[in-house]
Amino acid sequence: MNTSDTKTLREYDRAHVWHPFTQMKEWEESDPVVIVRGEGTWIVDSEGNRYLDGVAAIWTNVHGHCKREINEAIKAQVDTLEHSTLLGLANDKAVLLARRLVEIAPPGLCKVFYSDNGSTAVEISVKMAFQYWQHQGKPEKTKFISFKNAYHGDTIGAVSVGGIDLYHAVFRPLLFPTIQAPAPYCYRCEFGERDRANCGMRCLKELERLMEIHAHEVAGLVIEPLVQGAGGMIVQPDGFVRRVRELCDRYDILMIADEVAVGFGRTGAMFACEREGITPDIMALSKGITAGYLPLAATMTTQKIYDAFIGEYREMKTFFHGHTFTGNPIACAAALASLDLFENERLLDSLTNKIGYLAERLQALNEVRHVGEVRQCGMIAGIELVKDAETREPFPWEERVGIQVCLEARNRGIFLRPLGNIIVVFPPLSISLDELAFLMDGIEASIRAIT
Ligand code: PLP
Repeated sequence: MNTSDTKTLREYDRAHVWHPFTQMKEWEESDPVVIVRGEGTWIVDSEGNRYLDGVAAIWTNVHGHCKREINEAIKAQVDTLEHSTLLGLANDKAVLLARRLVEIAPPGLCKVFYSDNGSTAVEISVKMAFQYWQHQGKPEKTKFISFKNAYHGDTIGAVSVGGIDLYHAVFRPLLFPTIQAPAPYCYRCEFGERDRANCGMRCLKELERLMEIHAHEVAGLVIEPLVQGAGGMIVQPDGFVRRVRELCDRYDILMIADEVAVGFGRTGAMFACEREGITPDIMALSKGITAGYLPLAATMTTQKIYDAFIGEYREMKTFFHGHTFTGNPIACAAALASLDLFENERLLDSLTNKIGYLAERLQALNEVRHVGEVRQCGMIAGIELVKDAETREPFPWEERVGIQVCLEARNRGIFLRPLGNIIVVFPPLSISLDELAFLMDGIEASIRAIT
């Protein structure tokens, strides 16, 4: 592709494509990078520039771009069956994938309800939990507990259980109200605690207080286990998720784990809940499920929840929900190929060294001026940049330091997307140690150059 093609593509993009989470005035004044190819950890633009994909195609990519085995599985499936509905029919790939998911999921999650993206996986979780209590003879249990800083997607139900004012406040009049619990954002603890080792998790005590008051009317609690992603890659203290599980049990509240971002190896285990030794009542999956190839999602649940929906048709216990592309066989074939790669390449084992190396590099960043906190969970990191590391005073939003750092990194051949002034590190899990070194060198140099 030559430069004039790039010019045309940019012109058409500015003229017709409305980009997500983007102020289009700024975009229209820019020269968009147009990606045309992917190779392993790298993406390549229309002018031949290569960028290390530091955000794994928005937190989805697992085995690298254009991985041969997944490409072949998709090509074979396209030639066999491109789509068939799950309404009234089964298809082989959706069946086989459900079986594989049950084998690797936290024990007890044995039913799989498919959809197409993370938001719908969460939306389905919420509707399932709601309807479950209707069938249990407790119709008053209609509310949800969600966390401050939570992000569960952009559909109305998913936004309702979200807690990021910047994204969600404008839609409040359209949403169902939730009971919002404090999240353990220890660097900016809302209870003013500075000693996280000895704070006794006051946020959990507040959660329990809310449960005591509201349990009789609460259907479920929605949590991003281990890491609140879009909230700022906020890592929860060890044991937090386990304690939340205990509280949900004590107060008879269904626990919905949104593993859309953290599932499929991202935290070093196949699923984040595994690291805390718990099984949620409902688990939402997407993003990494197809290794970042195709839209697919799954909401998994237990026999107990499923059984509540079983009855004669006239009893009206059916779960009336379904999307056109539910269980699409091409997406399911990609997901099966990805799970084969997890096994054949022993991907989870290979992460130990990378996670250790990432930890070392992040630790070193603590010495860099304007780095307030570095947070890591497995192959996820957030680097919070602040105006004053001593007082933790944030950079003013409008200075857009995070974006400046990411643009600087782009000049060094790295693509990053910040969350405000938090630099996100979220590369494909297949990244090599050398590439990880390149990524962290580039991030460190960019932070030093800009701040
Ligand atoms: N849940 C979590 C934890 C997420 O991080 C996201 C997306 O970033 C979603 C849900 C929504 O997923 P999707 O964008 O596929 O709708």
